[in-house]
Formats: sequence, C-alpha cells, structure tokens
Amino acid sequence: MPIDVMRARGDTPGCRHVLHLNNAGAALMPQPVLDALGHQLRLEAEMGGYEAAAAAADEIERVYDSVATLIGAHRDEVAIVENATRAWDMAFYSIAFAPGDRIVTSVAEYVSNFIPYLQMQRRVGLTIDVVPNDENGQLCVARLREMIDERVKLIAITHVPTNGGLVNPAAEVGRIARETGTLYLLDACQSVGQMPVDVVDIGCDMLSATSRKYLRGPRGVGFLYVRSAVLERLEPPLLDLRAATWTAPDRYSVRADARRFENWECNVAAKLGLGAAVDYALGWGLEAIWQRVGMLAELLRARLRELPGVDVMDLGRVRCGIVSFAVAEHEPRAIRHALAASRINVSVTERTSTLLDMDARRAAAFVRASVHYYNTTSEIERFCETLAGMIRR
Ligand SMILES: *Cc1c(COP(=O)(O)O)cnc(C)c1O
Repeated sequence: MPIDVMRARGDTPGCRHVLHLNNAGAALMPQPVLDALGHQLRLEAEMGGYEAAAAAADEIERVYDSVATLIGAHRDEVAIVENATRAWDMAFYSIAFAPGDRIVTSVAEYVSNFIPYLQMQRRVGLTIDVVPNDENGQLCVARLREMIDERVKLIAITHVPTNGGLVNPAAEVGRIARETGTLYLLDACQSVGQMPVDVVDIGCDMLSATSRKYLRGPRGVGFLYVRSAVLERLEPPLLDLRAATWTAPDRYSVRADARRFENWECNVAAKLGLGAAVDYALGWGLEAIWQRVGMLAELLRARLRELPGVDVMDLGRVRCGIVSFAVAEHEPRAIRHALAASRINVSVTERTSTLLDMDARRAAAFVRASVHYYNTTSEIERFCETLAGMIRR
C-alpha cells in the first residue's frame, strides 16, 4: 500500500509551518506522538509523576513490544535509554577489551563512536582497523572478510552515516560476523524508521537507534538491542537500582534482560512518545515508507544535479533519504541560513562528525537535505527553485 501523503501531512502539524528537510536531524512529530506525550505530562501534573507512571505501566511495557516488533527482536532484548549515543556506549563499554584486541570499523563512522574507540585504544592498547570503501563508496565486504582474525574483538559499523545517502551493506557484514563468530555492533541511528531494519536478517549482536530522527518520535530517548545469546557476556559499565539488585551488604545481581543497560530515572512521556512513533511507523509499513523516501530522495538528487555549481555528494550502491551536496562558492552554513529565511529547514554536516570520510574527500562540510515520506514532490521543486535563486544571486 503506498503512503497516503495527504493523510500523513494532515497528521503532522509541522507541515503547515515549514518545509522540513532536516529529518536526519529531527523529523516532525505526528499527532499521535504529541498526544502520547501530552497525555502523560498531564497525568504527571494532575496525579504526580510516580502515580502517573504506575497508571501507564501497561502502556510502558507495550513500548518494548513495539520496538521489538519494529526490529524483529524479542522484548527482553530491548533497552530504552536517553539517546542512540548512550545506547551505543552501554554496548561498547560493556565489552571486556584487552591489549592487542582489534576493532574493525567503517570509513563512515560517527564521531561519538570513533572517540570511544580512541579512548579504549589509549586505555588498553588496542588496534582500530578501518575497512576501506569499495568502488561504490560503501564498506568493502571482501576487504572486511580478509581483515577478520582471532584478534578482532568487535566489528562496529554505521549503517547509514550522518553525512549522506550511503547505506552500508549491514547484512553482508552480519554474515561475516556470524561465520567468524565475531561480535557485531551496528549504529542504525539513521536507518531505523526510514527502511525495514531486522536484527535477525542483519545478523548483528547489538544495535543502537534514536527516537527523534526517522522514527519521528520525541527528543531525548533512544534504544539499544542486544541479542539474548550475548546479553550474559556483557557487563554494563554503569549499574544502578534498575540494572541490578542489591541483595546483601557485599552482593548485587545484574538483571538478566536487556534492561540491565537502562537506568532508573527516565522521561516516561518520551518513552511513551517513542512507542507511539514506532506504532505510527508500523501503521504505514516500513517498506512503504522506504519506497517513498527513496523516490523523493532520487528526485531531489536529479533536480540538484541540474543546478549549476551543485555537486551531490552521496555515496553507495543503495542510497537513502539523506541527500548531501556542495555548492561552488557558497558556504553550507550560509545556504542553510538563507533557506531558513524561506522557512525551509536543512542542516549542515561538518567534517568533525564523520572525519575519516570527510578527510578522504577533502571536504569541510556539506549541506544536508533529508527527506521523509510526508514531504511532497512539489516541496522538492520549491526547495530547488529557492536554492537556484540563491545561487544565481
Ligand atoms: C545522530 C547520530 C547518532 C547519535 O544519536 P543521538 O540520539 O543524538 O545520540 C549516532 N550515529 C549516527 C550515524 C547519527 O547520525
């Protein structure tokens, strides 16, 4: 079933105010998400925060079912935390790295993943190996296979980078991880919500994602998936009264399920908002979302290529809803600023967010226009006309 775009826009108050092409930053929330947030906040105001959480206990539990359905996991394999970075950190810092271990990662790696690699390198003396890209600009699976040996403790890659349309071959990486018995952590922050993502198909052991990007949920919440078979092996770097129980003066026991990666105090309304966002996405269907996002992004790339001085920078064989480009003689920030005056939202992706990739391409920054299924072809035409007018001047 194709997306009913008019209904999608009707459900999205933001569509009446802005031309939003910053879905990779934070997408516009639909009404059911706003309703879930508002309802819980009102309950908290009227009956007290703890009492409101108790009243919503069943709905809170259902958020785990929704996330599990979205990614093909079991509910006990899901932890809901503050954001994708914290989710990723809880997985990464749970791994008992030892001197001489190797981490194998991607050129497209995100800053907040690579800094922990460097920190762990300083701490224990491990090696960070970056898999080169193939001729399409995606992670080279053949090279990855050659790089795996018994010293590789972790394969950690980014599915969709923050700085462009690339979709790395996550499932092919997963096959190598399974065959070689190597732990595999996938940063799926930009892919979850815009395309079908199934942890069994992909074959990852751990996966991190956020609420506010392509899932269209609220800010300040995200989730971690950890495969049940590896849960027991991973001791969280931080433990509190939710993750563990204090059983005797000198003893504690860690929870058996993925909630060992959570902490007690959280934004309950945001958690419910995430659940509503996941249910809303499932209502459209991830395949239908992916079809439309892909169509709009390709239209945008085609239109941008017609503009003088514009270079579309997206890499990869499969390209997603993130469209990054450079404009000759125009600073990306100036373009973002000028577009904002026409109530068009784009963002700028800087060198320091994906340093390996940007340095390989000798780039300082790109303009990033990221489409979602509620965008329209006429919005894309208007965006390109506005941009063309700015470039001409
Ligand atoms: C945004 C982003 C993150 C971080 O997500 P937060 O929810 O901000 O912590 C991680 N990885 C990639 C590829 C991202 O684009």
